[in-house]
Amino acid sequence: MEKDFRSFFDEWSKSYDTTVNGEDEEYREVFAKYDTILNEVADRASSPVLEFGVGTGNLTERLERKGKHVFGVEPSREMRIIARKKLPNIDIRDGHFLQFDSPSEKVHSIVSTYAFHHLTDGEKERAIKHFAHVLPYGGKIVFADTVFESEEAKNEIQECAKKKGYKRLLKDLQTEYYTTLPILTELMAKNGFQVKYKKMNDFVWLIEAVKEEKKMSKKMNVESFNLDHTKVDAPYVRLAGAVKGGHGDIVYKYDLRFKQPNKEHMEMPSLHSLEHLMAELSRNHAEHIVDISPMGCQTGFYLSLLNDDSLDNVHDLVEKTLRDVLKANEVPACNEVQCGWAASHSLEGAKELASDMLAKKDKWHIVFQQ
Ligand code: ZN
Repeated sequence: MEKDFRSFFDEWSKSYDTTVNGEDEEYREVFAKYDTILNEVADRASSPVLEFGVGTGNLTERLERKGKHVFGVEPSREMRIIARKKLPNIDIRDGHFLQFDSPSEKVHSIVSTYAFHHLTDGEKERAIKHFAHVLPYGGKIVFADTVFESEEAKNEIQECAKKKGYKRLLKDLQTEYYTTLPILTELMAKNGFQVKYKKMNDFVWLIEAVKEEKKMSKKMNVESFNLDHTKVDAPYVRLAGAVKGGHGDIVYKYDLRFKQPNKEHMEMPSLHSLEHLMAELSRNHAEHIVDISPMGCQTGFYLSLLNDDSLDNVHDLVEKTLRDVLKANEVPACNEVQCGWAASHSLEGAKELASDMLAKKDKWHIVFQQ
């Protein structure tokens, strides 16, 4: 919330209901299926509900109709006046995601539509952390908002708005803090939420995040230490983390799991050779590889990529690399000058690991036991 939204919304309050009804052509697709979106959020929310950005009370009205007890928070005075008129029985207070009065009851869900993108990713993280304190285990966040599958998808939609001459929409897309699904998933997971998404229109996703009972003794710093290794189904490929730099570049870390944890593992000479082969050969197919390294538990590798949040790309890169491994005649750099344990190598073993992994390519996208 780095700018003054109060005055912006005070102004918008006069035309908000006509915009959401699809009368503003530039925003027609953003508000496509508006009724369905509000109903889905209202159905999934469990009472009592804390609602952020009540606006003119469109969602609040539905929640009330479905018998849910609502505490409303709305930063704009004008919007509060309109909403209070529509909904005289609802407690609607001044505030926003980062600053609000605690409701008089323990709430079971936190809802909001078309609002979370006003926060920068850093502010989103602060808000989610606070929500984790407000909600009980099993409690949930149910949001509907514009989110993009990747930075690429975001750029495409901006290009499209530019072509259509939608100046207000374009400015909105460029200046608001619309995030991506991988980043949002990361922010939620860090704070103990398991999140599911449902696409509602070209812009808006339904975001449902449940606060999970902690199975681990304590929240650890390392993402994979918070992963329940008894629930995964190897082999698989999954996004294990993302770190954003000061200039906006993002390093994505992928977990390439070759063997079922605590059931099987790769033998050291085979794993070591596979590491050399993959490190060298993968770079023939991509220039944005930061690192590829084996896990100490010998069940997989971590692959770090710069600015690539596409799992399809990762599957493709891993597949091409492993196919090259099968064709290799030697292990690169397996001598005492270029390697720290040159005696511990097995080309045949590495090929066998690559071949086993490739044989199950059709299930790399399934991470957890079904
Ligand atoms: Zn080595």
